[in-house]
Amino acid sequence: MTVDTRAGGALAPPPAGDDFTAKLALRAADPEIAGLLDEELHRQEDTLELIPSENLASAAVLEALGSWLNNKYAEGVPGKRYYGGCQVVDRVENLARDRARQLFGAEHANVQPHSGTQANMAAYAAVLKPGDLVLGMALDQGGHLTHGSPVNFSGKIYRFEPYFVSEATGLLDMAEVRARALEVRPRMIVAGYSSYPRTLDFAAFADIAREVGAYLMVDMAHFAGLVAGGAHPSPVPHADFVTFTTHKTMRGPWGGVILCRAEHADAVDKSACPGVQGGPHLHGIAAKAVMFRQCMHPEFAAYAHQVVANAKALAAELLERDTVLTTGGTDNHLMVIDLRPYGLRGRAVQSAFDEVGVTVNANTFPGHGGTPFNPNGIRLGTPSVTSRGMGETEMGEIAGFIVDMLQGFDDPAVHAEVRERSAALCRRFPLPYRRTTVS
Ligand SMILES: *Cc1c(COP(=O)(O)O)cnc(C)c1O
Repeated sequence: MTVDTRAGGALAPPPAGDDFTAKLALRAADPEIAGLLDEELHRQEDTLELIPSENLASAAVLEALGSWLNNKYAEGVPGKRYYGGCQVVDRVENLARDRARQLFGAEHANVQPHSGTQANMAAYAAVLKPGDLVLGMALDQGGHLTHGSPVNFSGKIYRFEPYFVSEATGLLDMAEVRARALEVRPRMIVAGYSSYPRTLDFAAFADIAREVGAYLMVDMAHFAGLVAGGAHPSPVPHADFVTFTTHKTMRGPWGGVILCRAEHADAVDKSACPGVQGGPHLHGIAAKAVMFRQCMHPEFAAYAHQVVANAKALAAELLERDTVLTTGGTDNHLMVIDLRPYGLRGRAVQSAFDEVGVTVNANTFPGHGGTPFNPNGIRLGTPSVTSRGMGETEMGEIAGFIVDMLQGFDDPAVHAEVRERSAALCRRFPLPYRRTTVS
């Protein structure tokens, strides 16, 4: 089924005449930046965005984000602020928190984190002490920077130990994760990823955490929107803490959120501010509230299901044309192509796709043998192209020219042809922003 996720309802484009090229005040005050905003709009219009962590926020979200709520300081939480004049923004933040709790069935929500990284930082600091042991997914197998990278705060403050996917299948084997947990005896287990193409067994993670006396934190930065739309199992009933970003599959403003059990509510709120942040971004929080409302709309559920259906269709067509995908496919919104059979490396492929208007990103995967900077994989995802209204048929087209590019990598004629095909697809599926003028 192909759903027109752009038509009607909460995710609709703004009314005719609303112009999403740079606005008049900005044009007058700073033509240079206004021009760059227009240029970036053109780039987004002319590019097929296949980076799985990127998406298109709705016009309503962008309006809340570009508002005068930017002007208000409100350190603290609603009803307990360090500043006066918070009577209106308290209501904004309460709406955001209530909608977050309702959407995910969570006991408590903190909507202040400026990004996914700040959400993780605050969630860790709510219950961990410097030097505590944390078990997280190996970074070159799908784990995130904030899951213990030595160049990140997480790896400097806490002692992270990795768990691994099974060598034979590339899948997480929960018996192996349990064995690692029994060996490491962590204070916290982190489940979540940036590039694992399968769903996680949250109940099994919770059992293991209970057995070793650890907290369970699920970082659903990537798949929160799928959970919100009912297209993916929810970690919320199983985890002590759930963190996520609002700009990936949620289609909201740039930001982060922490959900937790009521017993940790106070610790999480204090950890966010004053722990790791100062004043909250009220314009961002208003935009998050708008996003949560959008996510409750049946149209968003259709969108989330379409993201997964599209990923499955893209993967099926790639496999049909003999491309190797890690774990052999996908259950969520993303997949990783093993480039070794093509004799290609991630960096060169990423750059070549940039030239033909298709954005992908070079990515490591288990046992790939490349380097983190030049790995042997590329990661693809469907959230953004689905937001443009594309369905399974278009995924077949995209898979077709991806394979053509990989097979004809040294042939400029193939590149030129793929450029045409990707541009044609972009023209058929415009961004969900109406525009009346082009500078
Ligand atoms: C994207 C991501 C984050 C961090 O998000 P930022 O907003 O970039 O800080 C955290 N965890 C995971 C698993 C992610 O994929």
